[in-house]
Formats: sequence, structure tokens, C-alpha cells
Amino acid sequence: MNVKDLVRPWLQSLEPYPPGKPIDELEREYGVTDSIKLASNENPLGPSPRALAALRDALGEVHRYPDGSCYHLKRALARRLRLSPESLLFGNGSNELIELVVRTFLHAGEEAVMADQAFVIYRMLVQAQGGKSIIVPLRNFTHDLEAMAEAITPATRLVFLANPNNPTGTIFFRDAWAEFLTAVPRDVVIVMDEAYAEYVEDPRYPDALADVGGDHLLIVLRTFSKIYGLAGLRIGYGVSHPAIIDLLNRLRAPFNVNTLAQVAALAALDDDAHVERTRQVNREGMAMLRAALTELGYDCVPSWANFILVRVGNAARLYDALLRQGVIVRPVPVYGFPEHVRVTVGTPDENARLLAALAKLRREEAGRGVAV
Ligand code: PMP
Repeated sequence: MNVKDLVRPWLQSLEPYPPGKPIDELEREYGVTDSIKLASNENPLGPSPRALAALRDALGEVHRYPDGSCYHLKRALARRLRLSPESLLFGNGSNELIELVVRTFLHAGEEAVMADQAFVIYRMLVQAQGGKSIIVPLRNFTHDLEAMAEAITPATRLVFLANPNNPTGTIFFRDAWAEFLTAVPRDVVIVMDEAYAEYVEDPRYPDALADVGGDHLLIVLRTFSKIYGLAGLRIGYGVSHPAIIDLLNRLRAPFNVNTLAQVAALAALDDDAHVERTRQVNREGMAMLRAALTELGYDCVPSWANFILVRVGNAARLYDALLRQGVIVRPVPVYGFPEHVRVTVGTPDENARLLAALAKLRREEAGRGVAV
């Protein structure tokens, strides 16, 4: 018997998400120490000090099950967003919420519309469900909302939008979003993935949370993994109509968000100073990196997030060469960009190390007459 025959055909052909190697293992393999990770869009300043203090206080409680309703966090977030607690749902990272949406609203054979080079988890989850991903090319590295609306058919149940998009860092603007909403049928669920929303400082950025009360089936997803610096604890949230939240809740595991994640998120939510400091470090680092990378001759995609997509030519080779100098960036072939790397904006020191490593490679190539 082949155990593969026991599962549905679409699971047989599904490739698991490629995990990155742990830093200590990479360091051992490459014989480097003191490496820096600019590969996963994490907060280079770390978690909020308030979250760390709250975590220390909560450690003695981990023999208890978590609060399955995220009671305190839900109330605090509802107050902050000026929404009812019934409009909120928490997940083990926003990743779990994407999965809950797919499992709740998409049946085998039905369609989900998404951009070609958007967060890769969307199409994996749709495939896992036996659904069909309708892939719409980006235009100028940005979601083409007009084409996405046109791709909707009577078989479409879901549309995924990432704003800012990963791995491009681009956003679409209010006017395009407003037109999109008028074009999308009222029985199609729109997932607006705003994992990097808190980094955006452009007044043209759509206020999707304000549209949750409208007549569309809209789910806005946010996370504590990015600007709040809690990626390792796994907590994100969704905002939608209470009727939609109620449906998603039915498939949710009873204790999906662990105690430490809840406690840390509650403390981080109130640490406006940490969020503001992070935004500033990112704003300055982004401007500096972009100017310096352009100066080095690399094309950079304009980014509104905390990472930047850089065209480097042979990305696999550059990744490897940087790793030998202890700088970890992210090649993005799984996103269909074999010639780009995605670089997370780091602290000023980390950004300087990246640039120094690139400059060193440039000098070595010039000596050997090769282009990396
Ligand atoms: N959406 C986007 C666009 C992302 O880039 C990520 C993380 N890489 C996520 C969702 C998932 O984040 P998390 O599960 O950590 O909340």
C-alpha cells in the first residue's frame, strides 16, 4: 500500500512551505559567527520591553490552559479599534486565520482569486482544500485590482489581497480599493491581509477597517508578528462582521492562542512608544538602504513595508555569498522572483553590515571580472 493513496490528489502534489534553517545551524555550516538576519521581516528592535515584563510575570501560569476567548486582549483591542469585541477573532499568527477562512468558505472545486506574486501561503491553503487558485499578474509589482475584479466568476468564493504585499512591499491606493469594492459581488469574501499596515505612512493607504461595517463580506487580517515584534509567540487577529467571525470561530481550536502570546500582545498593544520607535528606525533605514543599494547599481522596488525587494541578478549566488559574511537575506524563487532578494530593514548597524558585505562582494567581483 502507498500511504499517499489515502489522501486527496491535491494533497499528494502539495509542496510543504520551505522552512528556513535555524541561525545557529547556518552559522555552523558556513563557519561564521555573529550573523544578522534580515530575512523574515521581523522587528529589528525586538519585542516591546513592556511585553517582555508581562511575559516574565506570566511564566508561572503556563501550567494552565490559555483563555480560549482571549477575553482581556479582545476587549482592549476592541476599545483601541472602536469596534465591538464580537468583530474580532485571534489566531495562532494571522496565518491560522487565513487557513480558517479558506476552510470555512472554500469548498473543493471552488475558486479563490489572488495576485501571482503575493504571500505564497494563500495558494498553498487553497490547494490543500482542493480549491482552484485564479492567479492574476501584478502590474508594476503592485496588485492589479481591476484585473482581479474581472477574474471573479460565479465559482469565486474568496479574493486575497495583501496590502502592503509580500514580497514586493507595494501598496494599492484608496481610489483603486473603492472601485474594487463596487465591482466585487456581495457574496464573495474579500480577505484584506494587512500584516504590515502599521508601517505604512502614506495618506493614500486605504482604511479597510472602516469598510468592515459596509455591505461586503470583508475580513481584515493584522498581526503581532511584525511591528509588535512577537513573531515567535504566534498571534494575529481578524476583523469582520460578527456573523462572519461566528462562522470562523466554529472551526477554531479551543486554545489556539497560547497564554504567553495573549499576555505579550496585550502589553505590546499599549506600548505606542515602541511602535513609534520601530516606525522611525524603519523609515530611516529604508531611505538609507534604498539610496545606498541604488548607488551600488541595484534596482529596488519602492516599498511601504519593512522590507525591500532588490533585483540582484543571480539571487541564489548572492544569498550564498552574503551568508559567508554572516548576512542572511531571503531569496524569493517560490514567489517567482529568481533574480531578486528580499531584505528586511534592520537596525542602523545591521543595514551598514549588509551594505559593507555587498560592497566587499563588488570589489571581489571587479577583481575577478564577474557580476554577482
Ligand atoms: N500575511 C503576510 C503578507 C505575511 O507576510 C505574513 C508573514 N510573513 C503573514 C501574513 C503571516 O504572519 P503571521 O502568521 O506571523 O501573523
